[in-house]
Amino acid sequence: MRTWLEIDIDNLKYNIDKIQKLVEGKKILGVVKADSYGFGAVKIAKELSEVGVKIFGVASLDEALELKKSGIEDEILILGSLFEDEILVADKENFQITVSSRKQLRFIEENRLNIKFHIKIDTGMGRLGFTVEEGDRVIEECIGKNMNITGIYSHLSDADGMSQESIDYTEGQLKKFTIFKKYENVVKYIHILNSGGILRFNNRYAGNLVRAGICMYGMLGNERIEGFKRVFTAKARVLSKRTVEEDSYISYGRTAQLKKGESFATLSIGYADGMKKEFSNKTYVIIEGEKCPVVGEICMDMCMVKIPSSIVEKVEIGAEAIVIRDDIIEEINSIHKSTWDILTGIGRRVYRVYKKNGSVDLIKR
Ligand SMILES: *Cc1c(COP(=O)(O)O)cnc(C)c1O
Repeated sequence: MRTWLEIDIDNLKYNIDKIQKLVEGKKILGVVKADSYGFGAVKIAKELSEVGVKIFGVASLDEALELKKSGIEDEILILGSLFEDEILVADKENFQITVSSRKQLRFIEENRLNIKFHIKIDTGMGRLGFTVEEGDRVIEECIGKNMNITGIYSHLSDADGMSQESIDYTEGQLKKFTIFKKYENVVKYIHILNSGGILRFNNRYAGNLVRAGICMYGMLGNERIEGFKRVFTAKARVLSKRTVEEDSYISYGRTAQLKKGESFATLSIGYADGMKKEFSNKTYVIIEGEKCPVVGEICMDMCMVKIPSSIVEKVEIGAEAIVIRDDIIEEINSIHKSTWDILTGIGRRVYRVYKKNGSVDLIKR
């Protein structure tokens, strides 16, 4: 394999156990949208189901269909907003959907659908949903009309923000949401906490379900979560090694130069594989246990790293390089909240290698 992403299923399950302890008494919805953040939605959902996660969140109808077709029989909530033709399919497939407009509700009523839906409230995210007051009225109406309202939820926009303003904002969102507590005995699921909420605001009122995404992989924002275990490691291999005979520019655009006598390796990973272009000259990889800084612009299929003189002799063609890992993301910490972007950007031609009980369980591409 040229490039692959190792996923440690045992550590994933360990993290789920940690999350469950943090939110005692609440159920966990596993957010497996975007192919489970690049880790493979079907495989991850099956593993989560084994440790008691029995409801999954996806972004679109297609993602829900993929899970169902693969044999997953647990509940599935589509977090995005569906068009009318999609609502009809979701109804047939028994998916739960998100209702964020009166138009969608009218469509459900007019077609006499008994589809399960969650009412989405905008408490400050500024994306989808009813305002708190309007949402409250809509919920009353749905209950009055005996519609199949299954959930009420909202989304936190800054739950991983560290400033006092961020904390105040999240507190404000949670406070607004408390008005829906009165529906606890009428509606199956009430939820607002995402990863940031689960880790940092789990002692506030937040319903009976949490939506766990990035925290399952031991990360929040660009930081590792203390006490959680490492789940992912992306690796590439050395394609070539060279010591430059004179001061030499490396890669497109001449943004970096090596001095005479310095060495570099060319690796089998580029931005099409998920090695973000904006990490050019900013990140590092680990070869033979040593940090090797990326030099020059990252190309589509390859990138170059400087090899410290201490390991020049040891590095051989084919040697493994650790290129994307929680500690590297944490250390480069260059772009606000980039972990989601990095993980979902890991490309299609990168193999996914699942490890379980210490050995390889499945290799997929
Ligand atoms: C993506 C998403 C989540 C998960 O967010 P994390 O920060 O990764 O935990 C939860 N809820 C909604 C509505 C989402 O779109």
